[in-house]
Amino acid sequence: MSKVLVLGGGFAGVEAAIYLRKQEIEVTLVSDRDYFYIYPTSIWIPTGEVTKEDVSVPLDKLAMKHGFQLILNFRT
Ligand SMILES: Cc1cc2nc3c(=O)[nH]c(=O)nc-3n(C[C@H](O)[C@H](O)[C@H](O)COP(=O)(O)OP(=O)(O)OC[C@H]3O[C@@H](n4cnc5c(N)ncnc54)[C@H](O)[C@@H]3O)c2cc1C
Repeated sequence: MSKVLVLGGGFAGVEAAIYLRKQEIEVTLVSDRDYFYIYPTSIWIPTGEVTKEDVSVPLDKLAMKHGFQLILNFRT
């Protein structure tokens, strides 16, 4: 089975991981934060219409749902 390492858990990384898993490719995603951040709707945080939690999706939940491995590599 092919294996792919995806760097970054933003739109590009998460979309790539999900796409590759649909091709039954083994995927490991490395991220320096434990959540996927939905930038488009984050513009409403300053107005109080959404919270940071509303626009943050835990990467471990996405990893479990789509079957990719997750490595968290927090910067120091
Ligand atoms: C306020 C705002 C609103 C936006 N609205 C829209 C919109 O309406 N429509 C639209 O099309 N686009 C919009 N964008 C742009 C869109 O969010 C970006 O084009 C998109 O996020 C780019 O995705 P990306 O995965 O390439 O990069 P990012 O989303 O920046 O993801 C990169 C990921 O890599 C991680 N990372 C970085 N360095 C490391 C490292 N050394 N090790 C591990 N992980 C690392 C980061 O933590 C991050 O999770 C908006 C952007 C902003 C800021």
